[in-house]
Amino acid sequence: MDTTHVQIRHQLEAQLDRLVHRIGEANGDPRLLPAGRLEAAAIKSALTRLENGTYEMCTKCGKEIDPRRLMAFPTTATCLRCSI
Ligand SMILES: [Zn+2]
Repeated sequence: MDTTHVQIRHQLEAQLDRLVHRIGEANGDPRLLPAGRLEAAAIKSALTRLENGTYEMCTKCGKEIDPRRLMAFPTTATCLRCSI
């Protein structure tokens, strides 16, 4: 895993920590829970893709995701074309 991936991973793990904390605090709040869970799932999936080396690959078409897109949306799993 290269330096960039380590940085992204730390960033995602911190984000997930904060999110889990927020979900815990918002326990029972029906407006926040679904969005929070979706976001947590997206972060976990990005972490898995980082680990198995498919982080830069679009999960729909298999092509490389634009690095600028990944920089802006670190949890994105698809390229711009497939996200539309
Ligand atoms: Zn794609």
